Amino acid sequence: MFMLLTHRLSFIGVKSANEGAAKAQYGKCLVFYPENSKKGKEQAKKLCEGVEEKTVFDYTLVPYGECYQVEYPGASYIVNGDQTDLTLPESLDENGKTVLRDYLIYTLKKNGSEVVRDRHFYDRSDFEYEIREIRGSDLDVYFPEFDVDAQIPLAFLASSLGKDFGTAAAAYRKPMFFDPNQKYLCLTFDDGPSRQTSRELMELLNHYDARATFYIVGSRLYEPDIEQIKESVSYGNEFGSHTQSHADLTKLSTAEAREEIMIPYNDLKNGFGYEMKTYRPPYGAYNHSLDDAVNLKPVLWDIDSRDWAIRNSSEIIQKVKAEYEDNTIVLFHEIYQETVDSMKELIPYFIEQGYQLITVSEADGIN
Ligand SMILES: [Zn+2]
Repeated sequence: MFMLLTHRLSFIGVKSANEGAAKAQYGKCLVFYPENSKKGKEQAKKLCEGVEEKTVFDYTLVPYGECYQVEYPGASYIVNGDQTDLTLPESLDENGKTVLRDYLIYTLKKNGSEVVRDRHFYDRSDFEYEIREIRGSDLDVYFPEFDVDAQIPLAFLASSLGKDFGTAAAAYRKPMFFDPNQKYLCLTFDDGPSRQTSRELMELLNHYDARATFYIVGSRLYEPDIEQIKESVSYGNEFGSHTQSHADLTKLSTAEAREEIMIPYNDLKNGFGYEMKTYRPPYGAYNHSLDDAVNLKPVLWDIDSRDWAIRNSSEIIQKVKAEYEDNTIVLFHEIYQETVDSMKELIPYFIEQGYQLITVSEADGIN
């Protein structure tokens, strides 16, 4: 259910496309953590202990209503939506000491099995606890002194804290980093979405912490695609318009061309509030007269994989490896299985060569 980032990015991030992230460097180690989070900074330092290589960790934020679960490699905790640390509700005992009351009357576990509950045990004023993570509908709290885990129902905390924990979002957001001084490639995929290939491609990109830009055709867009595109956007991918009917824009009036471009834009805008920033004219047939009429930026390509004609994954791989250059936009089509298969080799290959795989708009921000 939770995404735990166990990989280490090989580049130093300087910019976050999503959440505000602070950066801490200890020796040769760099860690990103939620801005304004004291605990995040402590965690960052802890993660860097004993790290020899120059390494970047990033974190994953899993939204829970007004709160987030923050996942680091090997660590996790809960923060408020404003990214200050979340503290459990406390009350004062008869001596004026702060105690945690009543919150541990549910399940206490030690080494996986239930421990008989003893009220005196948890009604003390001086024990230490660590918030671990939200697990299902419970919050995990750990008591080091007793080596005991407690699962506190979120519904209970929600009413005591007046906070909406919501439920685990299917999608998670994570900050995207790139180094403007390091080489990159923009993988772009036209002509989708496709019920056969789009999900596999999205999962492949996400697996490698890579992202891409998808130019979708409006007439191929159906209701269920919207959810998947929303998920894909949450992984950092970009979507642009490839027109409603894959039209040759140079053969249309300005008004007709504008409409062709804007229908998919409006579909995603109405679908989940997403606003496309770019479009790709089909056939690369581009007309400057649209510059004033359309608010989106036209994007062509530098390298053409010709995957639609080749339809053979090893030949696609061979051609792209022979022709790609630093800091370029590479054209693919997401509707072919052979293209998706070629990505299983090309994505890790590019990452090994030191390329940052980023979206067109991210690259636009670099230049
Ligand atoms: Zn096309």
